[in-house]
Amino acid sequence: MKELEKRIQADGRVLGKDILKVDSFLNHQIDSQLMQDMGKEFARLFASQGVTKILTVEASGIAPAVMAGLALNVPVVFARKSKSRILTDDAFTADVYSYTKQTTKQIRVDKRFLIGDDRVLLIDDFLANGQALLGLKTIAEQANAGIVGAGIVIEKSFQPGRQNVLDAGLTNIHSLARIAAFEDGQVIFMNEEDEKVDC
Ligand code: 5GP
Repeated sequence: MKELEKRIQADGRVLGKDILKVDSFLNHQIDSQLMQDMGKEFARLFASQGVTKILTVEASGIAPAVMAGLALNVPVVFARKSKSRILTDDAFTADVYSYTKQTTKQIRVDKRFLIGDDRVLLIDDFLANGQALLGLKTIAEQANAGIVGAGIVIEKSFQPGRQNVLDAGLTNIHSLARIAAFEDGQVIFMNEEDEKVDC
């Protein structure tokens, strides 16, 4: 999505080897117009899939998920994160390891909000190592729901997330921006031909 790539070039900041900071428009201050445009793009990409529900994880997945939910006219469920493992019968749960924070958190969704008839679209802000998506996949599977695919705002394609989720059987992944590399603090995007081959 060109509009998003331009914004990343203009306002994203590369931190260290592999972190992109986008807090001026995506996950702290939010550019609501850009967010709405991204929701419409997700809706276009998954329009034919019969999506009945969107599943994301708090906090930064919520904004793109809500915009996609609005455009597809379906409810949005976000998994809550907690540090401690809570044992309960009324929630679906999964453990998610964060490489950026080097911590494992439990994510949980109340069983009332996902059912076996659901066709779930997973949404998140970043795809890096794939741990968040795999946790969401586990939760949807516990509900016996179908998964139609995953919509990602920014994929760091030089990290193994896409391959990890493909290996786990999650296909139909669409990322609005795919980053091939960070070079001298600059963001290099994958070109469209690479994207077509690799999608
Ligand atoms: P994964 O689970 O794919 O390893 O990482 C995805 C999660 O980690 C996202 O939900 C996101 O919050 C966070 N994350 C991973 N890489 C980055 C990054 O470069 N920048 C920011 N802001 N968050 C990231």
